[in-house]
Amino acid sequence: MRIGIYPGSFDPLTYGHLDIIERATKICDRLIVGILVNSAKKSLFSLEERTECLEHCCRVYDTVEVVSFSGLLVDFCRENQINCIIRGLRAVSDFEYEITLASINRRLAADVETLFLMARDENLFVSSSLVKEVATYNGDISTLVPPYVASRIRQTFSV
Ligand code: ADP
Repeated sequence: MRIGIYPGSFDPLTYGHLDIIERATKICDRLIVGILVNSAKKSLFSLEERTECLEHCCRVYDTVEVVSFSGLLVDFCRENQINCIIRGLRAVSDFEYEITLASINRRLAADVETLFLMARDENLFVSSSLVKEVATYNGDISTLVPPYVASRIRQTFSV
C-alpha cells in the first residue's frame, strides 16, 4: 500500500496545489495532505481556515485526508506509515531547494521516497505568494485559486 504525504503551507491553496493533489491521488492508495504548522512564518490564513479550504476542495477525492503537523516530516512519516513524499516542481528556481530537502529527508529516512510531480502548463507558475500579491491590489484571482478559496480571500481583504 502506497501512503503518500503532500506537505506544504497552502497559504492559500491554489490550482497549482490542487493539480499536484489530483496527480498524486492516481499514484498513492492514500494521500495525506499535510499542512505544515510554522508559527514563525506569518500567514494570511489561520490553520483552521487553510484546513477548511483544503477539506472543501478535496472532498471529491475519497482517498485524501487533510491533517496538520509540526516537527520533522520524516518523523511524521514514520508515525503514520507514510512511505512516499510528494512535492511539486515549478520553475528551475524550485529545484535547488527541493533537491536539498529530498536529500536530507533521504538521509534521515532512507525508506521514504520523494516523488516530484509537475502541474499542467496553465498551473505551472501559480504560487501562493503570487495569489496574495494579486489579491492585495484587487486583481482577478479566478484562474489561480478555486472559487471557495477566492471568496475566502475576498472576505479577508475586504475587512
Ligand atoms: P508555495 O510555495 O506556493 O507557498 P507550498 O509551500 O504550500 O506553496 O508548496 C507545497 C508544495 O507544492 C511544494 O513542493 C511546491 O513546490 C508545490 N507547488 C506549489 N505550487 C505549485 C505549482 N503551481 N506547480 C507545481 N508545484 C507546486
